[in-house]
Amino acid sequence: MPAKTTHPLDKLTFDNRFVRELPGDPETDNYRRQVYAACYSYVTPTPVSQPRLVAYSRAAAASLGLSDADCLSEDFVQIFAGNRLAEGMMPYATCYGGHQFGYWAGQLGDGRAINLGEVVNGQGQRWALQLKGAGLTPYSRSADGLAVLRSSVREFLCSEAMFHLGVPTTRALSLVLTGESVIRDMFYNGNPQVEQGAIVCRMAPSFTRFGSFQLPASRDDLGLLKALLDYTIRTDFADWLDPSVELSPSVYAQWFAEVCRRTATLIVHWQRVGFVHGVMNTDNMSILGLTIDYGPYGWLENYDPDWTPNTTDARERRYRFGNQPQIAFWNLSQLANALYPLIKQAEPLKQALDGYSQAFTVGWQTMMADKLGFAAYQADTDDDLFADLSSLLQSVETDMTIFYRKLALIETYRQYPDDNTLTAPLQDAFYVPEQLTAEYQKRLGDWLQRYRRRLQADGLPEQQRRQKMNAVNPKYVLRNYLAQLAIDKAEQGDFSGVNELLQVLRHPYDEQPDKAAFAAKRPDWARSRAGCSMLSCSS
Ligand code: AMP
Ligand code: MG
Repeated sequence: MPAKTTHPLDKLTFDNRFVRELPGDPETDNYRRQVYAACYSYVTPTPVSQPRLVAYSRAAAASLGLSDADCLSEDFVQIFAGNRLAEGMMPYATCYGGHQFGYWAGQLGDGRAINLGEVVNGQGQRWALQLKGAGLTPYSRSADGLAVLRSSVREFLCSEAMFHLGVPTTRALSLVLTGESVIRDMFYNGNPQVEQGAIVCRMAPSFTRFGSFQLPASRDDLGLLKALLDYTIRTDFADWLDPSVELSPSVYAQWFAEVCRRTATLIVHWQRVGFVHGVMNTDNMSILGLTIDYGPYGWLENYDPDWTPNTTDARERRYRFGNQPQIAFWNLSQLANALYPLIKQAEPLKQALDGYSQAFTVGWQTMMADKLGFAAYQADTDDDLFADLSSLLQSVETDMTIFYRKLALIETYRQYPDDNTLTAPLQDAFYVPEQLTAEYQKRLGDWLQRYRRRLQADGLPEQQRRQKMNAVNPKYVLRNYLAQLAIDKAEQGDFSGVNELLQVLRHPYDEQPDKAAFAAKRPDWARSRAGCSMLSCSS
């Protein structure tokens, strides 16, 4: 008798509560359709011809209890390319709807994401695993269910970068090439190209979205809406609610208030690090307050609240950096509408939404005070300082990340002989030397003097203030052009750029002097190159 082969990933423990407890689609054939009265449809990943591992995240793997050896095994690449199911996996695609760019779009669903099941790790934490780009599902609508290498590199790197920045996010375990070709017209302008297919395995405690509740509500399926809500509270918010508490309209309203608070926290983090999601449709809003669905996102280089990386949104700029707080509110309002039939009172929902605005405002003020190294936010002085800083940062092209990082170098007590000496530590942050007129240097100098008086009033020891600032102002973020350079290499079969970036971005707040090149401002060539400053939804 041949020895039984042992696959390293079969040791994972799956507890597939989502499919066990929620109603599923009885149809198991894989064709595009509207799915009613069900939260998901069973569907298996499409096998691929030549899976090849590009990268894996050691930190994400560790949360599943997987070692480097496990991740480098043949079994790992086969499973996370969708060619084999590990013991206990029950793959399915979920059903949800959403508002896209402000308009109700009806059923969307996991069109190219296939959930493999939920791992329970050694600490009892649940991690749903999901392949993105693993083939058609009943929710693929007119598209192919696939993903290309460039967008998969972007999702993989950014998920892990955000995690290490301390921003709530879904995680990325692995990135594989499938060996299949995928056709994409990157800017929808009649230039279709053959690209390499790839799959990212994402992980999150739950992938449930605002749109998961909106779809049953839009269909008046209150039974399904209630089942999903009860499940979500009991499972995904198990730490939030004592299991002995009975669910009721009042608990639902309190739960919605909690979603509002988590969303406020999320958006404060985005504004802190200069992240622009790019497609804040309600189907891309996580019920847990995680950053989800990395598509045409971008990082602010020069500080410009009107900037959006998404060319699909170039005209209206609905999802521009400065609009993200308002859009989150709008999205939460849509979720409130969906929950209303179960709560039947507008007042608690309205209060919860007000709670979002308050939590965002307080969170933003605290965050800004932290970025500037203040002991605590003080309304009488700080509102003006923040507003004048925002205007300064926009009046000449200023790199947001470098500016805040270098601001820590300004000395609180030194006697600076003139404005030039005072502003010198910040000069690296400026893109266009000609913009640095004497008048501008004076304005910046004046602001810095006010800033120093504010620091003096605080009286924090210099070292402590710098440490505080450097713990919230990252040195390394996933600059748009850095991701693109890693993609260019990966497309030639060289994965070293992806892996090096992954490594650097694991310690975004550390100086890492030998990696300083990754903290440099955007080079001129990247100003207008596709993938660096302009992205589309085509991925
Ligand atoms: P997004 O805004 O990228 O999150 O996607 C919106 C909807 O389109 C979701 O339901 C996705 O699953 C679906 N979708 C996006 N790209 C594809 C694709 N290549 N194949 C199938 N469905 C897709
Ligand atoms: Mg999406």
